[in-house]
Amino acid sequence: MRYISTRGNAPALDFEQVVLTGLASDGGLYVPETISQFSHEDFVAMAGLPYTEIAFRVMKPFVGEAIDDDAFRQIIHDTYATFSHDAVVPLKQLSHNHHLLELFHGPTLAFKDVALQLLGRLLDHFLARSGEKGVIMGATSGDTGSAAIEGCRACEQLDIFILHPHERVSAVQRRQMTTVDAPNVHNIAIRGDFDDAQAMVKASFADQEFLEGTRLIAVNSINWARIMAQIVYYVASAVALGAPHREVAFTVPSANFGNLFAGYMAYRMGLPINQFVIATNANDILHRTISANDFSRRALQATLAPSMDIVVSSNFERLLFEAYGRDHAAVADLLDRFAHGRAAIDDAPLASLRRLFASDSVDDETILEVIREAHTHTGELLDPHTATGYRAANRQRIDATTPMITLATAHPAKFEDAIVRAGFTGAPLPENMADLMGRAEHFDVLDADLAEVQAYVAAHRH
Ligand SMILES: *Cc1c(COP(=O)(O)O)cnc(C)c1O
Repeated sequence: MRYISTRGNAPALDFEQVVLTGLASDGGLYVPETISQFSHEDFVAMAGLPYTEIAFRVMKPFVGEAIDDDAFRQIIHDTYATFSHDAVVPLKQLSHNHHLLELFHGPTLAFKDVALQLLGRLLDHFLARSGEKGVIMGATSGDTGSAAIEGCRACEQLDIFILHPHERVSAVQRRQMTTVDAPNVHNIAIRGDFDDAQAMVKASFADQEFLEGTRLIAVNSINWARIMAQIVYYVASAVALGAPHREVAFTVPSANFGNLFAGYMAYRMGLPINQFVIATNANDILHRTISANDFSRRALQATLAPSMDIVVSSNFERLLFEAYGRDHAAVADLLDRFAHGRAAIDDAPLASLRRLFASDSVDDETILEVIREAHTHTGELLDPHTATGYRAANRQRIDATTPMITLATAHPAKFEDAIVRAGFTGAPLPENMADLMGRAEHFDVLDADLAEVQAYVAAHRH
C-alpha cells in the first residue's frame, strides 16, 4: 500500500515510511492511495472473532507486505494484552438501541491507548529492523502525554521525552506520566506554560542538529498508524451488533477528528453505517462547519472536557480531501483561505458531508447536566468527553431503529473534577491503578530554554 499527501506535492510513501513520518513535506496529511474494500462475506466472517483477529484482518491491507504476518499478529497480541478488559473495547447497552463502546480500558484510561500502544510497537519493529534508534519528543497540557509514554515504555529502540508545564497539570495527570519507571521514559517539567513547551518541541523538529543524526519522531494524531488502529473498533462493534446484516450509527466526541476519520474509513471500506454524529465541547469548529458552513478559527476555551479543547481540527483535512473527490488543488486552496480567516466549503462537498454527518456542540453547564441525567437513566457515570457524545447522540440521531454506538473516550476517574462538580462524591480509579498516588515519581524541572532542553535530550537518550 502506498500513501499520498492530501495537498499533492509530497512524495508517495510506503507503510513503513508513513509510520515514521508525521506531516507531509507539502504541509498535507498522508492518506492511503486506494481504500481497500471489504465484502459482505468478509464482515460476515468476522462475527464472533476475538478483537485481535479482527484487528489483523482490518489492518492487513494497510500494512501490506511491510511486516510479515506472524510478526504483525504478535505485535497486535502484545498491544492489546495491555488492556484490562478481556473484550479489549467492550460494548455496554445504555437504553433501547443505544450502546456505549468503552475505549478506556488501556493503561491510561483513555481511547488514545488503542492507537498509541500499537504505534510504539510498530516504530520499535521498524527501527530494530534497520538498526536505528529514535527519539520521540512531545508537549502535553496534561491529559495526552501519558498515553504516548505508556505506548513507548516497552520500546527498545526509542527514547521518549515529554514536556509538561511545571505545576500546571493535575496530580493524577502528572502521576500518570511521572510514575512510569523505565530507562527510556523522560519527563521534563518546564518552568513555563504549555505554549512554551510546545514551542520548544516545534523548534526541535524544525532543526534537529542537536540529535546528531538520531531520528526525531512525532506521534501526534495525524500519524496514519493511529487512524488505522482506530478503524478496528468501528468494525468490531458494528459486527457485534449485527453488521453487515444491518446498519449501525456512531457518535464520536471529537477534537482533532482522528477518531471520527477512522470511522469514516470503516464506512468507505464497506461497513454499513447510516450516520455519524460529531460531538464537540464549546470549541465547536467541527459543529460550526457542518451545521453552518463556518470553517473558521475561534479563540480557545478551557472546558470540562479538556482533551477536546482545540482551535483547529487537524485531521478534518483528510475528510475534506475525500469530500472534494480527492482534488488536491481544491483542498490546498480551501485550507489556504482558512489560514487567512473564514472559509466556506463548496455546495456539492458540503451536501455530501451533510448526508452522512450530523453535529452538536455541548457547553460545560450541559455537560454537568448530562452526567447527572445519564446516571439517573442508565446507571452509568460518564466522563465529561463521553457526556458530549451521549447528549449529541440523543439529540441528533435520525433513526431510532438503527443501533447507535456512542464512543466512550475516557474513564470517569480520569476527570474526577467534573464528576464532583456534577454532584457526585467522586469516581474511583480502577483497582489496578488504585495506588497511583503512592507510587514514586521521576521527572526533572528545566527552564523554558531551548538550548538547555535540547542539551538535556541529547545527553539522556540511549
Ligand atoms: C483525544 C481525545 C478526544 C478527541 O479525539 P480526536 O481524535 O482528537 O477527535 C476525545 N476524548 C478524549 C478523552 C480524548 O483523549
